Amino acid sequence: MPTPRVLFVCHTGSISGAELVLLDLVVPWAGQSAFLFEQGPLRQALADRGLNVSVSHSAQSFSGVRRDSSLLKVIPIVSGMVAVIRELIGAARRHDVVYANSQKAFVLSAVAAWLSRRPLIWHLHDIISPAHFGAAQRRIQVFLANRCAVRVIVPSRVAADAFIAEGGRRNLVTVVPNGLDIAPETAAPAEIRRELDLPAGPLIGVFSRLAEWKGQHVVLQALSKISDVHCIIAGSALFGEEAYEERLRAMVRDLDIVNRVQFLGQRSDVPRLMRAMDAVVHPSIDPEPFGRTLVEAMLADVPVIASDAGAASDILEDGKAGTLVRPGDADGLAAAITQVLDRTPAIAEQVRYAETRARSHYGVTQMIDVISALIRGA
Ligand code: UDP
Repeated sequence: MPTPRVLFVCHTGSISGAELVLLDLVVPWAGQSAFLFEQGPLRQALADRGLNVSVSHSAQSFSGVRRDSSLLKVIPIVSGMVAVIRELIGAARRHDVVYANSQKAFVLSAVAAWLSRRPLIWHLHDIISPAHFGAAQRRIQVFLANRCAVRVIVPSRVAADAFIAEGGRRNLVTVVPNGLDIAPETAAPAEIRRELDLPAGPLIGVFSRLAEWKGQHVVLQALSKISDVHCIIAGSALFGEEAYEERLRAMVRDLDIVNRVQFLGQRSDVPRLMRAMDAVVHPSIDPEPFGRTLVEAMLADVPVIASDAGAASDILEDGKAGTLVRPGDADGLAAAITQVLDRTPAIAEQVRYAETRARSHYGVTQMIDVISALIRGA
């Protein structure tokens, strides 16, 4: 069977978890195409993997549309969307399969794929729920998926259940856990800390883009309840969450923990940083559709503390591979941090188990093979 010509479509030019997944899964598809709605580092990263990348000329006109926008706010920018759909139709006609890697990419690709009669795969990296999408958006997404998609790929059972609960067709859905390919970091934690100028004492880290639902504020509240523990916060406000970043910085001052918290901004050396931590905290206050950060921490041989919401309990096997806490519960998190930093034999065993589990369940080759087969079968 000849290799299908694939058009990967992405709304953003920034690189967060969903785009990191895309960068892995396109590896066998060098020579194929990507279409982005905006400029950004993703363009070069895809080009580095051998994709022919083009960027929309028209998408800027609706880049202000947020996930919580009401239908009324969306109407004035419809003409911008129509222009992008036209571009997408042209691009889709030169390909055999369209692969949409985000919700915004999917909605416009659905119309384009339908009009150009091309099969469309939606890689849905989100939990479709009221916490993240307005009612109109949810209805439109599910209607278009049922009408136009040949496959909806989700990274976890919770993401699948949410899609089906909103009316999505069950037989469209394939669960493909995100896979990660991370070379084991061999440097000793103390050496990494010296090299990166990190504190020598008890140190925890949070590794997510800055967004309220990612819950960095809960970690700051927890820190204020325990003494001596330092914290690094890696990640930046990638999707217009600058006000939240300001709030976090103000909280650090108000809680008088300035000397114990460092904001590191967006980093490209997460595995190395994680290896230098005494614990990695993943404090989301809303359910996570997956949480690559959890698997990265498991692979880094570091204890993980995560909110018990969404896919975390699956990934951490109900607490066997990490410590689960109630979302948004700063007291519970403070207690968990104290307990984990004691590094009892039970925690050491948990860390060993987590590493094995991450390697056996969340390998990148597994993910690439399943998704490539779905693309070929579309
Ligand atoms: N990340 C990064 N640099 C940072 C902070 C985070 O590269 O400074 C990465 C992190 O290592 C992980 C991804 O961003 O691979 C976040 O993925 P996750 O699934 O945890 O969350 P998402 O952003 O998709 O909601």
